[in-house]
Amino acid sequence: MAESLETAAINSLKGVGPALTDKLVRVGLHNLRDVLFHLPLRYEDRTRLTPIGAAQPGQHVVIEGKVIACDIAFGKRRSLLAYVQDDTGTIAMRFFHFSKQQQAGLKNATRLRCFGEVRRGAAGLELYHPEYSQDTQTPLDQHLTPVYPVTEGLSQGRVRSLVSQVLAMMDAGKLLTDIPLGSSGFLRMDINQALRLLHCPTPNMAMDELRSGTHPAQQRLAFEELLAHQTSMRLVREELGRLQAYAFAPPGATCASLQASLAFTLTGAQQRVLAEIATDLGRPQPMLRLVQGDVGSGKTVVAALAATQSMENQLQTAIMAPTELLAEQHYQNFSQWLVPLGIQVAWLSGKVKGKQRQAELEAIKSGRAGVVVGTHALFQKEVIFDALGLVIIDEQHKFGVLQRLALREKGERQGRMPHQLVMTATPIPRTLTMSLYADMDCSVIDELPPGRTPVTTSVLPDSRRAEVVARVAAACEQGAQAYWVCTLIEESEVLECQAAEATAAALTAQLPQLRVRLIHGRMAADEKTAIMAAFKAGQADLLVATTVIEVGVDVPNASLMVIENPERLGLAQLHQLRGRIGRGTNKSFCLLLYHPPLGFVSKQRLNVMRESNDGFYIAEQDLLIRGPGEMFGQRQSGSLQFRIADLLRDQHMLDQVSRTSRALLDEDRSAAMTIMQRWLTMPEAFSQV
Ligand code: ADP
Ligand code: MG
Repeated sequence: MAESLETAAINSLKGVGPALTDKLVRVGLHNLRDVLFHLPLRYEDRTRLTPIGAAQPGQHVVIEGKVIACDIAFGKRRSLLAYVQDDTGTIAMRFFHFSKQQQAGLKNATRLRCFGEVRRGAAGLELYHPEYSQDTQTPLDQHLTPVYPVTEGLSQGRVRSLVSQVLAMMDAGKLLTDIPLGSSGFLRMDINQALRLLHCPTPNMAMDELRSGTHPAQQRLAFEELLAHQTSMRLVREELGRLQAYAFAPPGATCASLQASLAFTLTGAQQRVLAEIATDLGRPQPMLRLVQGDVGSGKTVVAALAATQSMENQLQTAIMAPTELLAEQHYQNFSQWLVPLGIQVAWLSGKVKGKQRQAELEAIKSGRAGVVVGTHALFQKEVIFDALGLVIIDEQHKFGVLQRLALREKGERQGRMPHQLVMTATPIPRTLTMSLYADMDCSVIDELPPGRTPVTTSVLPDSRRAEVVARVAAACEQGAQAYWVCTLIEESEVLECQAAEATAAALTAQLPQLRVRLIHGRMAADEKTAIMAAFKAGQADLLVATTVIEVGVDVPNASLMVIENPERLGLAQLHQLRGRIGRGTNKSFCLLLYHPPLGFVSKQRLNVMRESNDGFYIAEQDLLIRGPGEMFGQRQSGSLQFRIADLLRDQHMLDQVSRTSRALLDEDRSAAMTIMQRWLTMPEAFSQV
């Protein structure tokens, strides 16, 4: 009985035939539970009449009055204006799209009830395209009106009718499984009650709480989502603890040779983190360790040393990066370091095809390749390792917990799992690390290699562009190299690339004495690699780029970066970008060329960039100013995005989340599974726990 809402298919509802089922499934509504979790985007208050004289711009109001005039207005755009009056004042309804019938209907109407947003317009206060009706007898709504997310072919009315059918089933006693752990703190409210309230608010529900997501019903759901997330990570961890791994012998002669061959000595922080890693690798259980380190802190060489240790134990290492560009760089670095030590490095990405691919796959399978560097391509079925001992994932926020599980499966051999090392340059405020990475041990490389001079950052309006161009010219003429970064316009990669093309053309014309090159995400992988190689080799002075160069690109001679419209990017992303300079011995400068006017928050954020080069500090400030949803930015979100929970807003829950998660796993595994299934997409293997 209790299970039926969790699993009953969507087409068991009245009026849902094959065509509608298709539509619903496409927006992720597969079963009745999904309908319940399809929550309103917002609420409208249609419970009270507002006297017209009291209506304020920006408010959504219900008004009632008589139509005193109805005319077509010829302004910039032709529109229909109908004036409605009550005892307290007059307001205009304005329609840009209207029919003859509508015009006639309004002319003849006596009393109207209207709902809409009040704006200031040419005719005084106006309602644009309000909903209206001549029926002023029906009582006003008793409670707030939910407004659902809808798509083409799926109307508000349809969603409301599906929801009310499922709510009726709840009334008839079909309920979702609740967290079976008493009812204190955030669990005071039952899940069923919380969902009912959110779909069907009571008259006294506070609109401002609902808007900010702090209503107890929303908090109950946020709590459960965080709980599901933490519990899944705990399970992964627990499962790993039960699994076997190869216990590595401590770092030996080859690791020592690699260290000796480096042009630098490791920092104290690098050595400490390596020791933490070596301790984990020496255990017969799989390591699961996150290494956080600011941009430029030297994570790559730490990874290379771990890979070398794996090789000393006759085991292979897979290194996975989220982009082709970054993977390619790792491939070059690892080859340069490891090949002289007699370690063969294989390379696998989507662009490796045909004979070369066969050869790489063969080297991986036979075990000749000690280290394999690649992109997502490493997940593919045809990639078979001889003896995988270590998996290294760079820039983890682009992969989730579930992918980590999938890759782990690849390595299973004679009941042994590979160790896992995850590296990220997106610093996470310490308060949040636990809830995001409860499944991992954390190491922090909290020291930059010596001799780095911090990047000096200036914030300039784009009216000073000519000055900036002159500055680029002067720097490049003295032998420096520079980046000019064009940022994302309206989330469109195509537009971003077009902007970069136009900028490159303009700069080429303005600076004929410089060698200007262009790189963007829509170029072929080969072309990108060739351009990066040329820039690295000093064959170009100015590289106009999109945010493709965000991670990993390492050209120590580049010491100047211009970022256009930095206000469009998250601070984490700006920090990543800026990390491309300040890598060599030259003093480096970053110019943030914003487009005025800047809002208060944007100003604050750019000031943080000017004040600090410390990724942890920047992440903390970003969190304070904007909140975590935005901190990681849509494009970087990966596993950090929640459906309802908001880490900043809901931080105060984390203690109880953590306690509940432990208790749930101890006391009721099947309830734990049900709750995880509600909130996470599970891979096959996981749902069998
Ligand atoms: P990130 O942590 O951002 O991945 P990298 O591993 O790319 O940083 O390192 C940045 C640069 O610093 C590289 O050129 C690397 O060779 C160099 N580097 C790493 N460790 C040290 C060190 N201890 N001393 C000097 N340079 C170092
Ligand atoms: Mg790196």
